[in-house]
Amino acid sequence: MNDVSDLYTRARTWIGKEAGKPTMARDVVNVPMIRRWCEAMGEENPIYVDAEAAQAEGFPGPVSPPAMLEVWTMARYRPGGRLPEEGIPVLNLFDEAGYTGVVATNIEQEYDRYLVEGDRVSYTAIVDDVSEEKRTGLGIGHFITIRYEFTDQNGGPVGRMLFRVLKFKPNLAQAKAPATESAGNEFPHPRPAITHDNAHYWEGIAKRELLIQKCSDCGHLRHPPGPGCPQCQSLEWETVKASGKGTLYSHVTMHHPRLPTFDYPLPVLLVELEEGVRIVANGIDLPASDLTIGMPLELDFVEVEPGYLLPGFRPARTGG
Ligand SMILES: [Zn+2]
Repeated sequence: MNDVSDLYTRARTWIGKEAGKPTMARDVVNVPMIRRWCEAMGEENPIYVDAEAAQAEGFPGPVSPPAMLEVWTMARYRPGGRLPEEGIPVLNLFDEAGYTGVVATNIEQEYDRYLVEGDRVSYTAIVDDVSEEKRTGLGIGHFITIRYEFTDQNGGPVGRMLFRVLKFKPNLAQAKAPATESAGNEFPHPRPAITHDNAHYWEGIAKRELLIQKCSDCGHLRHPPGPGCPQCQSLEWETVKASGKGTLYSHVTMHHPRLPTFDYPLPVLLVELEEGVRIVANGIDLPASDLTIGMPLELDFVEVEPGYLLPGFRPARTGG
């Protein structure tokens, strides 16, 4: 207990200090990177890639999508993580204390202006807050909030970001949840965040129905659930019940990090339902060695804890 409160005290001394070194974007804002990002995100607004379309809206040329703000300064991806000089010391404190799990819990961004070709973005990052110890579905941990201020090549502000991350301790022995101890289940299965926009989906799952959202105006089917239609922007929707037939579109097998309650290696499936939408789910009786892209699958429901169902997919019975 002393160790824990000591960690908390030491972490809180970082509040108000620089979280890491100020960082300048490796590349200036440029259309090729914007184009790739837009393609990956399904963003089709022409002002991001087409000079004429941008000029028609009063811009000097193509502008960067606001949500790309942090993209320009992102560290290079490296297997094994960041280099020491790219690290965030307050997060390292938690790693050293065994709080090695990371979940990026939420990000809020504000934008001051559109970035244009040739802008070069820099940021400074300040540790904003370190929470008391929290007990979450993933383990005990602390929320760390870091405030980023983004500026352009002239030092003018272009935006800011609050980044809140949960550093948690994926350790069964130390993170035993007293409420479920007697049930012999040391760790509860992580639960979804139920919101106004997805409650219908989880209510369907509880009744062993996989519901797909359908736009009431244009009929477009969408998953995962969301407030608006990506095709026509309508906010009116209904649901259709999935037949449960699908095929394996893609898959990955998780080896690390290991979260309690899951068995590893853990295949994670991306299933294309016959209705046309795709869903991420676990397999049932389906080891990684049996997975083949395109294989027919069928929906079933698994009661992972009493009263808590999750959809899963098992190999389709032949002839079914
Ligand atoms: Zn629609």
